[in-house]
Amino acid sequence: MTTAAASGPRTYQVRTYGCQMNVHDSERISGLLERAGYVRAAEADDNPDVMVFNTCAVRENADNRLYGNLGHLRPVKARHPGMQIAVGGCLAQKDRGDIVRRAPWVDVVFGTHNIGSLPVLLERARHNAAAEVEILESLDVFPSTLPTRRESTYAGWVSISVGCNNTCTFCIVPSLRGKEKDRRPGDILSEVRALVDEGVLEVTLLGQNVNSYGVEFGDRLAFGKLLRACGDIEGLERVRFTSPHPKDFTDDVIAAMAETPNVCHSLHMPLQSGSDDVLRAMRRSYRAERYLGIIDKVRAAMPDAAITTDIIVGFPGETEADFERTLDVAREARFSSAFTFQYSKRPGTPAATMDGQLPKQVVQERYERLIACVEETSWAENRKLVGETVEVLVAVGEGRKDERTGRMSGRARDGRLVHFATGAGGRPGDAGPPAGHIRPGDIVHTAITYAAPHHLNADGEPLSHRRTRAGDAAEAGRVPRTPGVLLGLPTIGAPAAPPAPTTGCAAH
Ligand code: SF4
Repeated sequence: MTTAAASGPRTYQVRTYGCQMNVHDSERISGLLERAGYVRAAEADDNPDVMVFNTCAVRENADNRLYGNLGHLRPVKARHPGMQIAVGGCLAQKDRGDIVRRAPWVDVVFGTHNIGSLPVLLERARHNAAAEVEILESLDVFPSTLPTRRESTYAGWVSISVGCNNTCTFCIVPSLRGKEKDRRPGDILSEVRALVDEGVLEVTLLGQNVNSYGVEFGDRLAFGKLLRACGDIEGLERVRFTSPHPKDFTDDVIAAMAETPNVCHSLHMPLQSGSDDVLRAMRRSYRAERYLGIIDKVRAAMPDAAITTDIIVGFPGETEADFERTLDVAREARFSSAFTFQYSKRPGTPAATMDGQLPKQVVQERYERLIACVEETSWAENRKLVGETVEVLVAVGEGRKDERTGRMSGRARDGRLVHFATGAGGRPGDAGPPAGHIRPGDIVHTAITYAAPHHLNADGEPLSHRRTRAGDAAEAGRVPRTPGVLLGLPTIGAPAAPPAPTTGCAAH
């Protein structure tokens, strides 16, 4: 139950758990709340007027974490009249009214299909002094029609589809995010252009299965065409996408990647297991041979491609021989990095009730062997780049040790993390003319001097530095906003808080 707010605009904070979908949804939640007149509370302020949890349901202990956080907020709310707590995302879609039964101090529960209702639900809960729970079974509007407060000046997510038509047995996405809904290509390209007009240099096209994009409007080649159309957008320097699905991956996409200059030669393609028996139990309808065949074709067309993946270890019924097959495929695929996950039961998924659940120590031991195997390959792949010149898009928050080492960090075109020396006067705040400072969003060319399994270092003077409009915006503390209606230009807004945390959810 809440009371009227004190004077002045109400403040909000969004806490995000889970995958990129959730991170992007949180950008929309922020955009919606700001359009409704809320202002973002400072990061350190743990006492905002509205606290939104954007939850994830893929981890076994996701609900413990949520209810733990809600429990901590209960006394905070008691001391702060007018404070409201909202819970959205996959766990809200799953648990619905149970959330307010277990935590009656929660004001609003909203699902993955009705993010746009959040401001109205908050208002209604305040007016009625009662909790509002609203969960829809399917999308009312495509989420990209909602206003979005972007977290980055130089890179943006653009949704091409939501939901998934597959039924992988470890995954909760189909039951919580519904069937695949594809967005029209014209709308997607308008959003990309709007971001580029704001100075954004890189977009990541986002869908649970980008390779089935177009299934809804009957064009199996729609994704390749979309990549090529992105190639015509002037000022767009890098195009990425996540995630492809080996089952639906077609050769025209490889050709589009190779022939469209701004599409990056990086591919994050979830493997999940190298054993055909385990893939069958996961209900993933490709086999290891097909997976490796796609990689061969990608490397034939783009020898410089960096290939990354997701792998689950310890799926129910996985034998030592199955696991060794995963190691074989990982070695053969030469991944430049892999997100590795220990299988854990996700309530509501078919795999959670399968026979053959493995003891924790078996899963742990295999997991450690897999990490060692992947690191060996990724380190060998990275060492091939020593002495090469790479183009780095300078990033925020990618180099935890940068302060200590005096470097800055960013991503190469192939997605690799590069920590680079800036040369005298190169870092913002260094003595010397500010025009020489390298800002997040700028582009630097530099030569790789050292390779580690998870990153590259470049310790010579940068070979070139290009100031960009994204760098200007970062320096001025501005972030792009897309307005939701895709006509007209987005406006520039207030300084951004640091990006929301993100973890892989292995859901592809
Ligand atoms: S793992 Fe990916 S492809 Fe499989 S059901 Fe989940 S979202 Fe769809």
